[in-house]
Amino acid sequence: MEFIDLYSDTKTKPTPAMRERIARAVVGDEQKDEDPTTRELVERVAEQLGQESAVLLPSGTMCNEIALAVHCKPGDEIICERGAHIVNYETGGPAALAGVMIHTIDGHRGMFDSEQLSAAIRGDSRYFPRSRLVCLEQTANLGGGAVWPIEKMRDVVATGRNASLALHLDGARLFNASVASGLSTSVYGTLFDSVWVDFTKGLGAPVGAVLAGSRDFIKDAWRLKQRWGGAMRQSGMIAAGCLHALDEHVTGLELDHRNARSFADIISQLPGVRLDKDGVETNIVFFDIEGTGWLAGDLVARAKEQNIGIGAFGKTLIRIVTHLDTPEHLVRKAAEKIAHLLSKPAR
Ligand SMILES: *Cc1c(COP(=O)(O)O)cnc(C)c1O
Repeated sequence: MEFIDLYSDTKTKPTPAMRERIARAVVGDEQKDEDPTTRELVERVAEQLGQESAVLLPSGTMCNEIALAVHCKPGDEIICERGAHIVNYETGGPAALAGVMIHTIDGHRGMFDSEQLSAAIRGDSRYFPRSRLVCLEQTANLGGGAVWPIEKMRDVVATGRNASLALHLDGARLFNASVASGLSTSVYGTLFDSVWVDFTKGLGAPVGAVLAGSRDFIKDAWRLKQRWGGAMRQSGMIAAGCLHALDEHVTGLELDHRNARSFADIISQLPGVRLDKDGVETNIVFFDIEGTGWLAGDLVARAKEQNIGIGAFGKTLIRIVTHLDTPEHLVRKAAEKIAHLLSKPAR
């Protein structure tokens, strides 16, 4: 039986059409700016993000880490929500690579408001670390795929600008936000000094993320890409998959969002489960099973026996993510099986 992997939207495999476009890619040496497919990708993404320039990187993590190191000096402080990927899933990279401190804000659904930001910005004192950069996530992953409303985002950005801070947007799922809100990616992207998008999440490419910013910012980013071993050769093989994703997989994100809502509809009806259905705005669903007596780890293990992949994000907290390789009937089937498991007493 087929494995239905709702653990993450990173689980997508390149489609036959994407593989074909990758195979046909015209290539050259990226480090010499001689790869035409990579040039096409970065130019297109820079425009879509409302920025002057962009660079292809192997991963979103490298986009974040390079951006921090370009914006900050060692000892500087960055401000972000406590659930941010930068804080939790980049192996201490901000400390190890950029040498920065992180000031976290306890937000709501991965977001915070301008008052909270104001309170987090340090005064001018020789004792304090220097507040330097504000990082936002759109969508907010641990916030349940929440989409920052544009007005809230503009407020926070204005507060950061007033304090002369730089602004960075982790846009791992920016296309999901754009499809959900109906606002183009550039509406969000232009607000920031640096912004990136991932092609290996819902867009379904095997490798690649693109970091965008001003010409000067990207020049500095390129130096770190080279230093940290992220510079490539015939990267058109990678860029072609990303271009295919841009052409073919953006509008389909709407389906993922609809499937996430159907999943939430089924699971939220179960006794003992806490799930905020209104909070399901994109392709991520979190639910708490504390009231069922089950532990998250046990449910993950039992679901796996039934060929369903889900994630434990706390003692009783589960996350699922819909994507290109989880069509409607499989999402429904997975939800029904999980519902069946939860209807029985925990082992
Ligand atoms: C996945 C993710 C990243 C990291 O991207 P990789 O391409 O996996 O390195 C960063 N931020 C957020 C919000 C993510 O979901």
